Amino acid sequence: MNRVQFQPGLSMPDFFRQFGTEALCETALERARWPQGFRCPECGNRAHCVLGVRTRKTFQCHACRQQTSLLAGTLFHGTKLPLTAWFLAIFLISQAKTGLSALALKRHLGVSYPTAWLLHHKLMQAMTERDALYTLSGPVQVDDAYLGGELPGGKPGRGSENKVPFVAAVALNGDGHPIHAKLSPVPGFTRKAIAAWADTCLAPGSWVVSDGLACWAGVVDAGSQHNPEVVGGRHPKVLPGFRWVNTVLGNVKTSLSGAYHAFKFVKYAKRYLGAIAYRFNRRFDLAALPSRLLRAAATLGPRPEPVLRMAEDSC
Ligand SMILES: [Zn+2]
Repeated sequence: MNRVQFQPGLSMPDFFRQFGTEALCETALERARWPQGFRCPECGNRAHCVLGVRTRKTFQCHACRQQTSLLAGTLFHGTKLPLTAWFLAIFLISQAKTGLSALALKRHLGVSYPTAWLLHHKLMQAMTERDALYTLSGPVQVDDAYLGGELPGGKPGRGSENKVPFVAAVALNGDGHPIHAKLSPVPGFTRKAIAAWADTCLAPGSWVVSDGLACWAGVVDAGSQHNPEVVGGRHPKVLPGFRWVNTVLGNVKTSLSGAYHAFKFVKYAKRYLGAIAYRFNRRFDLAALPSRLLRAAATLGPRPEPVLRMAEDSC
């Protein structure tokens, strides 16, 4: 039995026991936001009183009198949805191996498509930003890939309209097991673009194994070592050194054909890929995923719709 595939995750009855009412969700959010108890965002003071018994909880600081609502300053800022809907979305997204579409969310939550879209993108943004806090180190397998190109979802023959190059990279531990993956859109596979990618995504001194495409020499410019694998007559994708990077690319492929279908790759690639990598990186503890995503949402800050709809800078 595969330890990762057969782990229990968080069952639906357990989920509803923990987060099935608005009051349970509010308590969970309060704990996620202030694990050591309320702290005034204005002055840092802990002493406070709680206002709004029937409405959403608001905290008033004893020192500076500043009022802070439970949702203000979190990813849930300004939402009209009950927290139970948000928590259910967090549960469904985090437990679905190959991701969940906004359309599926709409049906599960009983909300409109625009509402489901926004909720989906806010949560994917939280996942992406959380994962961006990590850099890869040690031995790192890399490969070049395209959304809308080799992967399904693009229009055949007209892929360039909706085609996004991205780097798939997996850091391994001493036993050769994958620790952390990154899926990062890049402007193209040039030495300059790869150097810029390595600068933000790799810890200096990383040891990069590639298929020898010229652009990968860019990692040396950013302080890493580069070991092109000699591929001889074999296709680099089938070499054992690329096993994990291929597994991650397989996840992308399954998510695109199963859950996401085609989307505006050029605009949203970073967020979709970020969400896939986030889940892959936390696959050893599925049951804890909803709590971790909740903590990310509670501490990230608001991400309003106009910001989410802006084109990605990086592609
Ligand atoms: Zn205060």
